[in-house]
Amino acid sequence: MTDYTKPARVRVAPSPTGHMHLGTARTALYDYLLAKKTGGKFILRVEDTDLKRTVPGAEQEIMDGLRWLGLDYDEGPDVGGAFGPYRQTERREIYQQHANILINKGHAYPCFCTPERLDKMRKEQQARKESFHYDGTCRRLNPDEAARRVANGEPHVIRFKTPKEGVTIAHDHLRGDISIENKNIDDYVIIKTDGLPTYHLAAMVDDHLMQVTHVLRGAEWLSTFPLHVNVVRAFGWDEPVWIHLSVFLKPSGKGKLSKRDAEHAMKDGYSVFIKDMEELGFIPEGVLNWMALMGWGVPEDDVMSLDEMVERFSIDSLTPSPAAINFTKLDHFNGTHIRLLSDADLTARVKPFFIKAGFSVNDDLLLKISPLIRERLVTLDDCIAFAGFFFQDVVEPIPDELIAKGLDAKQSAAIARKAYEILSALPDLNHQTTEPPMRAYVEQSGLSANQVFGILRVAITGQKVSPPLFVSIAIIGKEKSLQRLKKAIEILEKM
Ligand code: GLU
Repeated sequence: MTDYTKPARVRVAPSPTGHMHLGTARTALYDYLLAKKTGGKFILRVEDTDLKRTVPGAEQEIMDGLRWLGLDYDEGPDVGGAFGPYRQTERREIYQQHANILINKGHAYPCFCTPERLDKMRKEQQARKESFHYDGTCRRLNPDEAARRVANGEPHVIRFKTPKEGVTIAHDHLRGDISIENKNIDDYVIIKTDGLPTYHLAAMVDDHLMQVTHVLRGAEWLSTFPLHVNVVRAFGWDEPVWIHLSVFLKPSGKGKLSKRDAEHAMKDGYSVFIKDMEELGFIPEGVLNWMALMGWGVPEDDVMSLDEMVERFSIDSLTPSPAAINFTKLDHFNGTHIRLLSDADLTARVKPFFIKAGFSVNDDLLLKISPLIRERLVTLDDCIAFAGFFFQDVVEPIPDELIAKGLDAKQSAAIARKAYEILSALPDLNHQTTEPPMRAYVEQSGLSANQVFGILRVAITGQKVSPPLFVSIAIIGKEKSLQRLKKAIEILEKM
């Protein structure tokens, strides 16, 4: 069992190479939970050493995404901390020093092979049906000669000198020991020709210097995991607890989630990118709950706030089994968490959607409306479909929908006229004043409440489904309600 009394230092270490996706967000969530659970620290480290793939704005998107989710980090590029800088391109010298330490200890060597030579080698290996690996030419160079060539400014990379014999055993907290014969581990590049490190060196150095206790990362790193433990061991450092999280599968459960799946999701009103979630009407509470359960072995429908997750979290119950992305569950958790919001909170969150839809929003009015639609909201943007009619000047009912079941247009018009008569005679339209006379009318007319209220509902709200009718009428007010009813009568009379 894991000891939760020692403060953990954990980091999320995304590369700013594209949109922040669910994988990064889920890692950040588990990091955050472990940090909070142990009174430790959650760190954001930006791994931006692949200059060709760096996308402008991606770093900001990560920071915004984490904040939107409520996963505030204790240390990071924009908040500082005692172990900075937290952007790898600002740590260039640190990696060079560490590469030199490895060279001096005999664990790394400069390699002067040109891209052309490597390309030729790759083709020959392909022809022999071998997997690509460095052939060790520069590994065999005399170290003094290599040092001289480096001093002369000859372009080179630095490679890690993987032992040729023996076995490397790497321990993953969820998967146990993973062993691999060293002859199958390549001499990976740790410093590129541009002088910047690859992940294999940079992440190991930073995790050590930043005193990271638990490395939570994607399962795609399992293949180079033995290399990483060898790098850490070559320095003589203690290893962190390694946790490779589960892989995300396509919604169908068949195969890994791909770029195309991301495009498909968008067409259905979902996304695997955090930046889209807000606009699609998802709330952080729902997204967090949904993500938490993809890879954490708690019952699938457990509804938890972030604090409750901290309370219950354990790295021992993370699971290595792949998790299929299930957007129906996202809807479920989102709707569930929307129902847990206070009236004021819900009002503040739906407001931007009304504004975006072009309505001028009165806060007091919205505060009355949002509790009425809460039960029906799956995503916040549903508020427009359910409650846009409150803010519209006029509604455009579908004529056929104004006709009550079992009746014709003429009969429906007569009912609408009667309703108009009853409502217009009342001094004030509120829930208490409107419902009793309307119900009395239903009683004596021999019609059903569904017929009468159905006409009234479509006339006044413009839709067949709405929040409670008499409450809605009260909110819309007498003048507007009667205008809408009048318009419905005219439509019915013309049919
Ligand atoms: N920069 C790596 C990535 O984005 C980080 C992996 C890790 O967390 O160590 O995949």
